[in-house]
Amino acid sequence: MKKKQTIIVVGGGFAGLELVKRLGNSSKYELILVDCNNYNFFPPLIYQVSTGFMEPSAISYPFRKILRDKKSVHFRLGALKEVVPSENKIVLNNGELKYNILVMATGAESNFFGNTNIEEKSLPMKTISDALSLRNVILTRLDRATRLKDSQERKKLLTFVVAGAGPTGVELSGILSEMRSFIITKDYPELSKEDLGDIYLIDGQDAVLAAMSKNSQNYTHSQLNKLNVKIKLNTLVKDFKDETVYLSDNTQIPTKNLIWAAGISAKAFKGFAKESYGQGKRLKTNVFNLVDGYKNIYALGDSALVMGDDNYPNGHPQLAQPALQQAKNLAHNLNVAPQEWTPFTYKDKGSLAIIGRNKAVMDFPKQKYHLKGFSAWFIWIFVHIMGLVNFKNKVRTLYNWIGYYIYKDQSFRMIIKPSERKS
Ligand SMILES: Cc1cc2nc3c(=O)[nH]c(=O)nc-3n(C[C@H](O)[C@H](O)[C@H](O)COP(=O)(O)OP(=O)(O)OC[C@H]3O[C@@H](n4cnc5c(N)ncnc54)[C@H](O)[C@@H]3O)c2cc1C
Repeated sequence: MKKKQTIIVVGGGFAGLELVKRLGNSSKYELILVDCNNYNFFPPLIYQVSTGFMEPSAISYPFRKILRDKKSVHFRLGALKEVVPSENKIVLNNGELKYNILVMATGAESNFFGNTNIEEKSLPMKTISDALSLRNVILTRLDRATRLKDSQERKKLLTFVVAGAGPTGVELSGILSEMRSFIITKDYPELSKEDLGDIYLIDGQDAVLAAMSKNSQNYTHSQLNKLNVKIKLNTLVKDFKDETVYLSDNTQIPTKNLIWAAGISAKAFKGFAKESYGQGKRLKTNVFNLVDGYKNIYALGDSALVMGDDNYPNGHPQLAQPALQQAKNLAHNLNVAPQEWTPFTYKDKGSLAIIGRNKAVMDFPKQKYHLKGFSAWFIWIFVHIMGLVNFKNKVRTLYNWIGYYIYKDQSFRMIIKPSERKS
């Protein structure tokens, strides 16, 4: 019998997990899924964890349990540090692994555009750990505000600046505003309405949700206005120091809370040739997701800049669907003879963004049609429930959302800080 080839998949997000699930009982390959976390998580709902509307376990699930019935897959906990293509080897923080085929699916990280003040002092929102730390910070600052006598200092703790008016920034500013109206006023009777600071949404482009249709942009803008979110467009966050956010239009906003949802770049690793990287540090690939300059290294999802899909000459949007579809296509290709390989073409299924407890916007593929308000919100709920990785999480999340819809509240506002112990 022919020896099985080893495929190492680094990153078990949308793309990596989809690939190992599809090849998981292969007779041709042995797979090793490497991830720096021992769980898969669902980034689109991180903002609800960071504001205490959802528990982290509702949007995450342990890899080892997901992969129980995938007999050809082993899970390896570890963080990739370096790739050594000349030796078909990767170096992790806790050892080394050899591969016949390597698949890079490590996703993206926040891009602070070189501003170290913003990098050090702002609050990012990319991972579950970011979301939990944001939740702890918000709740700790709310409590601190109740003890302060100085009204200006109190306001600094209760003013939020969200940088980036893409879906994440819109969702976050909307939910912060609802938190201010439905929760803070009730849970913190020590604070008066005048104490509550503003919520700002800042973006360098000329519209919120710049990638969506004009209809979606206009509706979102007006709904955020109704939620008292202060929107500043064509404006950049230039700096964050001395408890003040500095904007490109010379506005200064005194606050301790800058939440960064303004940009991402792919995670880059030592060992790849410089020429293999394209815009946004994504690995340039051909239509089969094969990385330029290598014969046995593939890149998927946010990590990949696929060249050759006619409708996407500058690569695909960094969203869940391209990641899932690329993984599905690569799994198919790895199972058939090379002459039967299918080039990747992305099928746009439309886009959604939620604005508040019962309103959202939806663009159909190619922005031909548009939905807004309750109907778009209902579809948003369905799509996100279906995107969760297991049945229990789907049921729990639906239950939470019904509770939030009815009572305008949830009860996951605990400040939990794990104590540091050597593991
Ligand atoms: C807050 C937020 C909201 C979003 N909302 C939406 C949305 O509503 N709709 C949508 O379509 N898209 C949304 N996105 C984008 C979407 O999540 C990404 O496009 C998608 O996750 C990309 O999939 P991926 O598999 O390439 O990477 P990811 O899903 O990010 O997975 C990367 C994996 O790699 C692992 N990893 C990273 N570094 C290392 C390392 N050094 N070693 C080992 N493992 C590593 C990570 O732990 C992770 O499991 C959102 C993203 C964020 C952050």
